[in-house]
Amino acid sequence: MLLGCIADDLTGATDLAIMLTRAGMRTLQVMEVPRVGDGRLAGYDAIVVALKTRTSPVAEAVDLSLASAEALLALGAKQLFFKYCSTFDSTDAGNIGPVAEALMAKLGADLAIVCPAFPTNKRTVFMGNLFVGEVPLAESPMKDHPLTPMRDSNLVRVMQRQSKGRVGLVPHPVVEKGRVAIAEAFAAAKGRGERFVVVDAITDRDLIEMGAAAADMPLITGGSGVALGLPANFIAKGLMKAAEAPTSMAAPQGRAAILAGSCSEATRGQVVAAKAAGLPALEVDPLALADGRQSAETVLAWIGQQPKDKPFLVYSSADPAGVKSVQDKLGREAAGALVERTLAAVAQKLVATGTTRLVVAGGETSGAVVNGLGISALEIGPEIDPGVPWTRVAGWQWATEGQAGRGRDLVLALKSGNFGAPDFFLKAWAKLA
Ligand code: ADP
Repeated sequence: MLLGCIADDLTGATDLAIMLTRAGMRTLQVMEVPRVGDGRLAGYDAIVVALKTRTSPVAEAVDLSLASAEALLALGAKQLFFKYCSTFDSTDAGNIGPVAEALMAKLGADLAIVCPAFPTNKRTVFMGNLFVGEVPLAESPMKDHPLTPMRDSNLVRVMQRQSKGRVGLVPHPVVEKGRVAIAEAFAAAKGRGERFVVVDAITDRDLIEMGAAAADMPLITGGSGVALGLPANFIAKGLMKAAEAPTSMAAPQGRAAILAGSCSEATRGQVVAAKAAGLPALEVDPLALADGRQSAETVLAWIGQQPKDKPFLVYSSADPAGVKSVQDKLGREAAGALVERTLAAVAQKLVATGTTRLVVAGGETSGAVVNGLGISALEIGPEIDPGVPWTRVAGWQWATEGQAGRGRDLVLALKSGNFGAPDFFLKAWAKLA
């Protein structure tokens, strides 16, 4: 194992895992702190630990990140990567600064880079300022995020407020000169006593040059875009050969299902397209769940009546007006929890009765389903659309004893709500063999 990654949320971890897979690293994503000595973790170039620490209390985020780091190092990691969101989701209390500093102390690192840039997704950093598309971070919708409102676009200041060590900048005119100039800037930053440098990046080339300059840094911190430049370092050192990125994934025979709990625009479009194409579809209404007209049992009874040879869709996706009216009646949290619990219960029963191919739409919804199945690791397979791969529950072995996923061979596509083309639910199956 070469690169040990610690991600602060589930879909972010997958995002990173795909980047590494695309660049030729055999990658496993695990949903808990890995256990050293677990033979199932052998044979990978990179392991990505998906934590849920983005908004947890600082001490908890630090403890879980340190425990993950310890395990990854014991498994042989030569470099650690702390992955956070490309919009730098955090507050003045953390958790990016405190986690990064704890990891640096653990590694004895004297300088780490800070770079959430992901040009493909229109996240760029220029003169230390993060842009989302054409607007600075603080003018993007992130300014109103319920948990981590981002009201300052200058990452040097943002990082400084949540760190004890000094934060500096490697500005774009230096980055543009390439890896040697960037490495010199790192040395100069160390000379000034800086502990972090925000590194500008507005193109993929910038990220690749930055990656090369950071080849010998024990800790990298950044968004998944930074992963673009890292695999080449290990290849150049003769530590690994690039594997072909998978174009299809072997999947066990069995029934195929789509569960959609996302109300994002892309998912709603995918629901419309799936229905138009004639997939059997059942709408779940949170109000009906609340008063007992619908339940996991009624959904399963409907599924029992559908043809077994084609995928079916169960969805709660509604437009903003529909969501608002449900939330006004049930409360936002309660409505979400009701749908998540129901879809997770449906998934448990389906998997226990022979469904082996499952598409789940929605980040929170995916988390609920994965937890409900007790799944602890996913092998990354081919990408269906940018950012969404098929994954396999690595044989039967990756689910917790006593949970629905235990003993099952299963492929899963966990789709963040806004990802994927309109025909996602229709075309995903063609990548399975
Ligand atoms: P996304 O990735 O699009 O944000 P998530 O699954 O993360 O999707 O979040 C969607 C949330 O909305 C979940 O908590 C889900 O249970 C909830 N939800 C789903 N359908 C409805 C609905 N019709 N009304 C209100 N809330 C809903």
